Amino acid sequence: MALVAPAPVDRPEPDVIAGPTRLDRALAALGERMARSRHWIMGIQWTVVAIYAVLIVVPTVVTLPGRLDHVWNHVTVFAQFVFWGIWWPGVLLSMILVGRLWCGVLCPEGALTETASRHGLGRALPRWITWKGWPFVAFVSTTIYGQMISVYQYPAPVLVILGGSTGAAIVVGLIWGRDKRVWCRYLCPVSGVFGLVSKLAPVHFRVDRPAWDRWTKPVGTPMPRVDCAPLVPLRTLEGNSACHMCGRCSGFRDAVTLARRSPNREIVHVAGREAKPWETALIVLGLLGVAAGAFRWTASATFIALKQTLAETLVAIGADWALDFTLPWWILTDYPEKNDVMTLLDGASLLGFITGETVLAGVVIGGGLALATLSLGPWRSARFHHLAQALIPLAAVGVILGLSMTTVSLLRADGFALDFVDPLRAATLIGATLWSARLAGSIVALHTPSPARRTLAIAAMALPVTAAAATWATLFWSI
Ligand code: SF4
Repeated sequence: MALVAPAPVDRPEPDVIAGPTRLDRALAALGERMARSRHWIMGIQWTVVAIYAVLIVVPTVVTLPGRLDHVWNHVTVFAQFVFWGIWWPGVLLSMILVGRLWCGVLCPEGALTETASRHGLGRALPRWITWKGWPFVAFVSTTIYGQMISVYQYPAPVLVILGGSTGAAIVVGLIWGRDKRVWCRYLCPVSGVFGLVSKLAPVHFRVDRPAWDRWTKPVGTPMPRVDCAPLVPLRTLEGNSACHMCGRCSGFRDAVTLARRSPNREIVHVAGREAKPWETALIVLGLLGVAAGAFRWTASATFIALKQTLAETLVAIGADWALDFTLPWWILTDYPEKNDVMTLLDGASLLGFITGETVLAGVVIGGGLALATLSLGPWRSARFHHLAQALIPLAAVGVILGLSMTTVSLLRADGFALDFVDPLRAATLIGATLWSARLAGSIVALHTPSPARRTLAIAAMALPVTAAAATWATLFWSI
């Protein structure tokens, strides 16, 4: 008998678990308040723009810090701590807690590109901008380039990468769209990651479709409209991925409300409806491959071995000039006064190491996902991509923990003991692993009613879940 894969049996968890409660009413009221507080939100955005500008520009005009400089007495160390120790881990953590509120209320690039588009040419979007691969390509390129020029250590690379991204956001705003955030929607290097991580948030702007359709315009009033800057199709909005949580649509047509939901709902019940290969690439290759490799290479014995092998090969073929060939600081780290220079050999070893880590993640994690997909019946790429979404908690938490390494090392350098960090890291990683395993189980259950196939698929999913957990565990603890 031919095996015909059954259609997914989707019984969505309700948006509101039990309600409406006082919390539901408070959330709805908060959404309404946001809709009425545009001027306050804009004030907050411009304050962040000012702080951001100071933090990326001022450190480039003062001398580099010495060994005795600290967070509290040198602006560069302070900016380093704020950007990489608090800002980035905090932004990612906020995505898990409140979705993309950062994008809609606080992000300086979002505010600048939207303002630029208000006064720009307002051109229609060319096709190339809407290519779905940009978030992956931009994230991977920025991550690798950041490592090549030591963005965590020096202020000029921060200005090049963050300032360059902000400049590009303004230019895009000046050319395309009117009052819109074309940059944020299609091109921002972290929009793909934010879109993935915000799927875990327990709050969202919920659209009540029947209420939307029932709504009629009061006689004699103009047709209301919502200016959704990241171009979200409001009526069909079903998740946090594209929504910037700006609150402008709250109450629209008596159908949009800030509401709570199960943090599993979007991944289990919404993400599987449309196959998103670029999201899978970002989870498996971008976050669990490139980002993990970028955190790991400086302390890796494999990196040293790779560099040694490459050096011997170069000497053997008579290309030993590459052993001490350097490039300008904006291509490869070059700070001889700090005894910190990357040669062509270092750069090639770095690229080789990150590529190897990415290929390994692709083979092991992608292979496990493929095995689980086949355990569910005939091959369907939509199933493969849906199963990959189960790894989002591990990918997100791993990157937050990786970024927190800078926070911890800067604080330890300033004399803070931080003995609680290792147990906290272990507990967080175990929690993320259990969360991913739970999501994997729920997704598998949607795709087959057969207990035998479920068991097989869950056993197969143990491989990518364990591999993803091991990726981050080995970053902190050598085995
Ligand atoms: S759907 Fe658009 S307008 Fe509504 S909260 Fe999200 S980003 Fe803002």
